[in-house]
Amino acid sequence: MPSMTSTWLRPLAVALAFLCCAAFVPSQRITYMLTPVMQDGALRAVQIDLTFRGQGDGETNLNLPSEWGGEEELWRGIAALTIVSGAEMRGGQSVSERVLTHAPNARIHVRYRVIQDWEGVPPAGRNTYRPVIQPTYFHLIGEAALATPDLHNATPVRLRTRGLPRGWSFASDLEHPGLTLGHVWASVTVGGDYRIRRAADGATRVAIRGEWSFSDEAFTAQVAEIIGGHRRFWGDRSSPYLVTVTQAVSPDPGHISIGGTGLDDAFAFFATPNVDDAPITRTLAHESFHTWIPGRVGGMPREDEAAHYWFSEGFTDFYTGRMLVREGLWTPQQFAEDLNEMLAAYAQSPVREAANTRVVADFWRDRDVQQLPYQRGRLLAIIWDARLRAQGRVLDEAMLEMRARALAGDPLKAAEMLPVVLESMGLDVRGDIAGYAEGGARVLLPEDVFAPCGRIVTREAAVFDRGFDVAALQTNNGVISGVDPQSPAYAAGLRDGMVFVRREAGRIGDSEQQLTYVVRDGDQERAITYYPRGRSTFTLQSFEIDEPLEGERYAQCRRALGGL
Ligand SMILES: [Zn+2]
Repeated sequence: MPSMTSTWLRPLAVALAFLCCAAFVPSQRITYMLTPVMQDGALRAVQIDLTFRGQGDGETNLNLPSEWGGEEELWRGIAALTIVSGAEMRGGQSVSERVLTHAPNARIHVRYRVIQDWEGVPPAGRNTYRPVIQPTYFHLIGEAALATPDLHNATPVRLRTRGLPRGWSFASDLEHPGLTLGHVWASVTVGGDYRIRRAADGATRVAIRGEWSFSDEAFTAQVAEIIGGHRRFWGDRSSPYLVTVTQAVSPDPGHISIGGTGLDDAFAFFATPNVDDAPITRTLAHESFHTWIPGRVGGMPREDEAAHYWFSEGFTDFYTGRMLVREGLWTPQQFAEDLNEMLAAYAQSPVREAANTRVVADFWRDRDVQQLPYQRGRLLAIIWDARLRAQGRVLDEAMLEMRARALAGDPLKAAEMLPVVLESMGLDVRGDIAGYAEGGARVLLPEDVFAPCGRIVTREAAVFDRGFDVAALQTNNGVISGVDPQSPAYAAGLRDGMVFVRREAGRIGDSEQQLTYVVRDGDQERAITYYPRGRSTFTLQSFEIDEPLEGERYAQCRRALGGL
């Protein structure tokens, strides 16, 4: 299982946009000039020359990076901060603030170096938001690298580079036209041995470095399809978008990890090099759709935001799959595999019938609870979309109507507006929301919910059970004990006293896949393979595509899944 650590930080960027308080005097632009600082052919720091016009009252605050995305003391990545000309500098009210005094409206030149204030290379399993300064490349998130003067957010900004070593690339979403100060925080800037690829649409770029199992060209084309498809769905014009992909390193070569963060008009990925492009594009498709859901269809409540995650996460996941099919990036079979993984997890979730109040209380504390709104909301979207399609309508119409109402000033939050809009389309979902989304009743898909493609199969499946005492394994240095003589493990030859060596196949938690354990039996190693099926059962649903699915039926299926 890949460990998914993707975050959605757009609300933070929006909040920051309101922080600036200075009266707006249309001033000359702010310029950030980036210069790599090299030593013996290796990058040591990135020098930033910041020039701007100070406030009319002769005093302008300069804010250094502080906290973002769970990282603290980001000012530690700023070194050798000096005034080159135009002002005097003293400390401010906090460690991340400086006060510049100067002649009214003076032209001020500040210089500093961005350094990597941590050891090593970007580690697997987390997003590296702190500045990355490596011998052959750099990766800078605006929040962590850019000092910003306390000027109006609408002040124009430009980003320039100087002295890039021969052959070095450079890319930033801050190169996009019409840039203002309000956009610099949620940005990413990379340079060095990244390969910069521009998609055929002219608007989408990918910056990627290192070796991967997929080609730059194919990946860039997929990114452009995803971003372009979402814009077409919402009727928005094409505009520049940058995706960066940076390799994260794990001491364990088998460790698969992918994570990333959405920025204003960019997405920064961190992934181990053994990741293939499918989870990267799925993550991008999900996070990109968040540009609109929930923010542009009514938004989230100020308090207990998690109470509406069944809409914001569940519907975003519904549209992740729908759009990937529509854009031709997923076949119906891939759609089914992705859905079936979720259906299996939901069916076996220990909290599958927990009320929404539990989601509010424990979303950030419990991984199973965290998955619940994604699962429930996606299933409800599937069911409601099928009911609408039976009437010749489609859920997409409701999303576009919600956006129109939000633009027109409708005060309802997205999850509250949804039932109102669906009712206007002849679909009453209030009972479903009360029973499933709020009450926590188990959502089961009707058999024919994807009718042109195949059917939903519902059956009783065995609970996952390894057939021996797992807790004792850890305390007994890998010696197996407590093997249940009635279990498939025993039937396959597993006995007390054997020593666990490694797992070679199977998935923990999945009784439908054979497990293979390599164990030491005396002085021999042997592999033992069995289905980890316990005695009790649970209700499992899966989406089975008809075989073969060809011709007109295949086209009908694609239309149903893709909402075409
Ligand atoms: Zn999400």
